[in-house]
Amino acid sequence: MTTSPDRDELASVLRFTAREAAAYLEALDQRRVRLPDVERALTHFDTPLPERGSGALAALEELWGKGLDATIATSGPRCFHFVIGGTTPAALGADMLAAVLDQPAYAWVISPLGVHLERVVLRWLTELFELPADLSGIITTGATMANYVGLGAARAWWGEQHGVDVAEQGLSGLPGVPVLTSGFVHASTKKALAMLGIGRSALVQHARDAAGRIDLAALERNLLALDGAPAILIANAGEVNAGEFDPIEALADLADRYSAWLHVDGAFGLFARLSPRTAALAAGIDRADSITVDGHKWLNVPFDCGFAFVRDVKLLAKTFAYAAAYLPDPADPRPQFGNLGPESSRRSRAFAVWASLRAYGREGYRTLVEHDLDLAAALARQVDAAPDLERLAEVPLNIVCFRYNPGGLDDAALDRLNARLGDALLEDGRVYAGTTRYMGKVAFRPAFVSWRTRAEDIDLLVSIVRELGAQLRG
Ligand SMILES: *Cc1c(COP(=O)(O)O)cnc(C)c1O
Repeated sequence: MTTSPDRDELASVLRFTAREAAAYLEALDQRRVRLPDVERALTHFDTPLPERGSGALAALEELWGKGLDATIATSGPRCFHFVIGGTTPAALGADMLAAVLDQPAYAWVISPLGVHLERVVLRWLTELFELPADLSGIITTGATMANYVGLGAARAWWGEQHGVDVAEQGLSGLPGVPVLTSGFVHASTKKALAMLGIGRSALVQHARDAAGRIDLAALERNLLALDGAPAILIANAGEVNAGEFDPIEALADLADRYSAWLHVDGAFGLFARLSPRTAALAAGIDRADSITVDGHKWLNVPFDCGFAFVRDVKLLAKTFAYAAAYLPDPADPRPQFGNLGPESSRRSRAFAVWASLRAYGREGYRTLVEHDLDLAAALARQVDAAPDLERLAEVPLNIVCFRYNPGGLDDAALDRLNARLGDALLEDGRVYAGTTRYMGKVAFRPAFVSWRTRAEDIDLLVSIVRELGAQLRG
């Protein structure tokens, strides 16, 4: 038995992987999202570091054989929790090949195809979303890091307005950075502001109601009060409870009028631009200075993948470039993504993105988006028709916000019932959807971004919520 890596292991590893991957994907539509024995499966792995290894095939057999029961079928058709995309066949295949090639997409010299395809897909995405062709960008690990990159560029711009190179000198001695947004802002923005040294408390939310809808007049009053000092505006294109949008044109107008930076978080909402049915929601995003969008959500490429776009690429270089004698000259015109984002060595995520866009094109993605819009509309109809379900919001996009409400209970009792029902639904595992608080009420908010979900999966979600709800009440 081999205990150090050996070329002879590869054939059996690849055979095992291909066979098991095929069997898993074949059965994925039927698979429970979560199995009952998660905890037991996990305990298998609580062992000391082995002194002597098992060899590759045995390790993989153990990982798969003992571990599979503790995974969540996130790429299957019934994972409606958070905003979880599937993986298209083209993206999956390309991502596996990216692992085979093991290319760090840091710079041209070490991954010419990786960094070239990254440029190509960023351009393709500006075409897909009908954004200005001169936007620059970078692939990130997700929308959190895309927010970090976009707001990092905003911070560099803000420093310049104060005559300071923030990447060089830091923020000390400067006033606080004003960051203004609505109540729709995603929690990851606060995380990005924390990481950037701007601070979570710099964020001021202007909401006119409990759903978080923007109070534009209050926001403009606060801009005016800054008396010409530079500020950052964040527009939210697709919030996570009901899929609503800030009025982006209006925010772009304010950004123009007050010379503010406009950042748009369109992690999944940017895909509204792909369908004429929803494009108006996302109008005005082309006027942003920086834009966030996710890859592993509605683009259906594997975890992890997101995109940050900026109008002025110099601000990225200013923030993220670094140099050392053994590294490429930063002035080399060939792509150096390690100098445009937080990571230096980076997985070649462009392989999967390129393959999926090449395989399905604009039409394929419009079909995917409209398929998910149809599913959300179908769920809304079923909720409306069910006597024990109550829809809590309009469905502008792909999220349906509702609660179980059998009648005769006050809001506090309904909150307790729906919170228990939320736990029960995850525990049951046939379908997966979490709860949130919307307008103060505990509610479900299933989100549809997968190509795999079918109408029957929606039927199942409704019947299981009602079944478990009735059990809990009884
Ligand atoms: C999911 C999401 C994020 C965070 O994205 P990650 O890819 O998980 O980092 C940020 N903003 C919005 C609106 C989101 O939906």
